[in-house]
Amino acid sequence: MSSNIAQNYPSGLESEAQRSAAVTAALERFDGLRAKVATEATPLGDVGPDDEWWVWVCPRGDFEGRLHAAGYALERRAVYTVCDSCGEAFLR
Ligand SMILES: [Zn+2]
Repeated sequence: MSSNIAQNYPSGLESEAQRSAAVTAALERFDGLRAKVATEATPLGDVGPDDEWWVWVCPRGDFEGRLHAAGYALERRAVYTVCDSCGEAFLR
């Protein structure tokens, strides 16, 4: 995970509704991802419906995956993201 920190490819912005839906879908789709996020990240906290979030391109595979903010990394000042395609977690 940490080796990918330097690879930042912002893909655009999404609304809080889009982010929330994407993360929820990823957590339901990939076994163990919910537990991994709970262990390695803290919640995003006070999130409003008008908030917008960066989306990043997943560096894995065919670059079709998008990384959505799922929390904040516990030990780094970084956003903890999950991929909607491969289920991996990355810091951004
Ligand atoms: Zn991915």
